[in-house]
Amino acid sequence: MSSGISLAHGRPLVATPGPSIIPDRVLAAMARPMPNMYAGDIVRITEEIFAQLPAVAGTAGHPFVVIGNGHAAWQMTIANTLSTGDKVLVLESGRFAVGWGNMAAVSGVDVEVLPGTDRGPVVPGAVQARLAADTGHEISAVLVVQTDTATSVRNDIPAIRAAITAAGHPALLMVDCIASLGCDRYEMDAWGVDVTVAACQKGLMVPPGISFVWAGPRALAAYETAGLRTGYFDWGPRMAAEEYYHLFAGTPPIPHLAGLHEALALIQEEGGFGAVWRRHQILADAVRAAVTAWSTPGGIELNITSPAHRSNAVSTVLTGSIDAYRLAEVCERQAGLTLGAGIGGFGGRAFRIAHMGHLNPPMVLGALGTIEAGLRSLGSPVGGSGVAAAAQVIGEALIVG
Ligand SMILES: *Cc1c(COP(=O)(O)O)cnc(C)c1O
Repeated sequence: MSSGISLAHGRPLVATPGPSIIPDRVLAAMARPMPNMYAGDIVRITEEIFAQLPAVAGTAGHPFVVIGNGHAAWQMTIANTLSTGDKVLVLESGRFAVGWGNMAAVSGVDVEVLPGTDRGPVVPGAVQARLAADTGHEISAVLVVQTDTATSVRNDIPAIRAAITAAGHPALLMVDCIASLGCDRYEMDAWGVDVTVAACQKGLMVPPGISFVWAGPRALAAYETAGLRTGYFDWGPRMAAEEYYHLFAGTPPIPHLAGLHEALALIQEEGGFGAVWRRHQILADAVRAAVTAWSTPGGIELNITSPAHRSNAVSTVLTGSIDAYRLAEVCERQAGLTLGAGIGGFGGRAFRIAHMGHLNPPMVLGALGTIEAGLRSLGSPVGGSGVAAAAQVIGEALIVG
């Protein structure tokens, strides 16, 4: 590794896919003295958050807030819908659905993985065929991610729902939206999803520490007989909460609630989730245009081959003959940009660019320009200018009609 000049002396930019960049207003809201937790502002903030949460996932189902990261929310879904010996079908499309399934296996759930690839989405026809073969309806639930943060695939959740329906199968559909919520369109009820999981630190722009579960009517029915309930995660007392702090099974995560309240206000001010999704679409399109412009045979390319299944939250970029570790090191050490590393077997053959949450054109173009400079510094094979291609996409979006 050369020891070139370091230009990394302004504000650094971290473009890893979670935790994402936190708005200053959210940070400021979180930095507050601890109040009397039994009355006043924090009670109102909590009520306002719970009133908004169903709409965040597009559901009339019941929202739960978990003090813990996304893995804790995974645990809550398993504990409240399944019993030892139940069977679940995990739809592989990268890393994370399998991780969720592994957690269920620890609780004695029988986990079957429907294998997928690293470069494309779950294939609905394969889901339909597997469920149609389950004539005894042994499979209780289907676990899938909307966006897998390792591969950057975005699965077609309505198509997966349609496959389950076409197989005439009663399994619950449980969807991990940890990476995608607030980045890609998601409509839990319209899409026939029974359980949704998310966390605060990606599209929702809050430092890691709380996560979410939404349960629809079929999931709440499954809860009635779930054998894996634990005292802490149990939905029952949380739903019956007589005092607001029972929603958290104890002391509320006060700074996180204040931060989330502010983040939801920012989303409202932007024009709601429709506007937020549209901004993500444009900025993700700009990133993809840049990567496509850089592409050469044997060099850079987008990991997900089908444009319809590329996530608006993160892009995994294959680097071919270019050493992704060297590129990441140059960008970070000499230029102040931290890229996401390839995970899940990609190793030095890929890097990831997050485009989730609190992001605008100067941040995206700055990141892309820095990557382009890093590629040039390494003498990498690069096609055209990715920055020019990204500016074109953003410029078209900015045209005032
Ligand atoms: C980040 C992520 C997780 C893990 O969330 P933690 O908060 O780290 O537990 C799970 N699933 C997906 C799709 C993710 O992107």
